[in-house]
Amino acid sequence: MIGSSVVVRTRSWIVLCIGLLTLAPPAAYAADCPGHPDALGTSRTLVVDPREHPRIGTMQYRETLPLKDHEVVLTFDDGPLPKYSNQILKMLDDECIKATFFIIGGQAKANPEGVRKLVAAGHTVGTHSMNHPLTFDRMPIEKYEPEINGGIQWTSAAMTDPTKLAPFFRIPGLMRAEGVENYLISRGIQVWSADFPADDWRHVSSDRVYQLAIQRLEAKGKGILLLHDIQARTVAALPKILRDLKARGYRIVHVVPATADLPATPTTAVEWLLHPPTETTPIARWPSVPNFVFTQSTMLPAPSLTDLNAQTEHQPLLPRRTKGQLDVASTLPVPGHDLFAIPEGSIEVLLSTTLSRRAATRLAMAAETPRAAKGKSGSIKSGSIKAGKSRASRTADAAHGTPKHTAQTKGTAQKGTTPHPTRVATSVKKRA
Ligand SMILES: [Zn+2]
Repeated sequence: MIGSSVVVRTRSWIVLCIGLLTLAPPAAYAADCPGHPDALGTSRTLVVDPREHPRIGTMQYRETLPLKDHEVVLTFDDGPLPKYSNQILKMLDDECIKATFFIIGGQAKANPEGVRKLVAAGHTVGTHSMNHPLTFDRMPIEKYEPEINGGIQWTSAAMTDPTKLAPFFRIPGLMRAEGVENYLISRGIQVWSADFPADDWRHVSSDRVYQLAIQRLEAKGKGILLLHDIQARTVAALPKILRDLKARGYRIVHVVPATADLPATPTTAVEWLLHPPTETTPIARWPSVPNFVFTQSTMLPAPSLTDLNAQTEHQPLLPRRTKGQLDVASTLPVPGHDLFAIPEGSIEVLLSTTLSRRAATRLAMAAETPRAAKGKSGSIKSGSIKAGKSRASRTADAAHGTPKHTAQTKGTAQKGTTPHPTRVATSVKKRA
C-alpha cells in the first residue's frame, strides 16, 4: 500500500512538473519582482558593442537592435525632470522593467539626484546633448562637439560612478547628420534613433499616446519605443501601455553596453535588421553578378572538348558523339536486323533523306510501281508493326492530298516497319 501510494504521488509530481513546464511563460518574471506578482518584468538583458553596430533604429537607419519578435526596448528622453521622471521611475520599478534614459546635460546639472536614482534603479543611462538644440543637422563641429561633450560631462558628473554612463547618444529631435554621426562613432558612441515614437511631445491626449505606442509596435512586431519622461501625458499613458504590452505577450529587453568584463551578446548580422529577408521575401537590391553562376561552376565538372564540339586539330569535321551518348550506346542491346528493315525507295526512306516531299513521292511511286505489281509476295519479310505503318502512310497521304497516291502507297504497305516513319510522316504533316 505504502509502495503504491509513493508511486502515485511521484507520478502526480511528474505530471504537475510537466504541466508547469508547458504552461509557464518563457521567463518567470513575476518571481523576480517581489510584491508585484503580475508584473511585466524584464525578460532579458542584451549587451551591445557600439563599435560593431554604431547606428540603430529603423526610423532612420538600416539596422536596429537584434530583438526577437514581441521584444520591446523602452527609451525615455529629455529628463530627468523630478515632477514626471520620478513617477515614471516608480511605474517602471513596480513592473520590474529596465529602460534606457537619454539625459540632457542641463537637466542633469539641475537635478543630479534624478540621474543617480536612474542608475540606482539599474536603468541604462545615455546622453542627449547639453541644451537640446534642434539644429544638429546643420551645425558645424564647433557647435555640436561642445553640445555632445557638455551632456556627457554633466551626466557623468551627476553619477557616483561615472563609468556607469553608457556610450549611447540620441540626437535631439532625431536631427541626424553624417558629420555628427561620424564624430560620435569615432569616439565609440552608439547613435540611437528609434523604431517608433508615440508622439508624446505633441499636443495630443494621453490616450492617443497609448494608442500610437501600441499601434506602431504592433505594426513592426518588436523594436525600440521612443517616449519622454518629462511629459504629463506620458506619465498618464504609461500604465496602460505597460498593461497592454503584458496582455499582448510583449517582453521587455534591457540594453547595456559591452565592457571589458561584459562581452556583447552573440548575434548574427541579419538579426540587426528589423525584418530579415526570407526565401519568400523579394530583396530590393540584387547582387551585381548572380550567385548561381559561381555555384554551378564550382559544383559541376568542367565540360570536355567533345561536349563543346570543339574543332581540334585531329578532330573530324562532323560532330562527335558525347561521352553520354557513347555510354548509352554501349549499354543498350544491339537491335535485331529486321528492326530497320524498310523497303528501299519507300516514301519513308525518301522523306527522311530529302527535303522535297513532292520529289520523294515521285521517286517512291517510280520505285514501287513494279513491286506493287508483284503483290504481297514481293514484300520484305518479318516485322510486325503493321498498324504503325498504316497510320504513317495514311498521315503522309493526307498531307499530300492525292487519293490516287493513297491507293498506290497503300499497295506498298509492308510489314516490318518501325515507329520511326510515323514521326517523319507527322513532321511532314506539321510542315504542310
Ligand atoms: Zn529630446
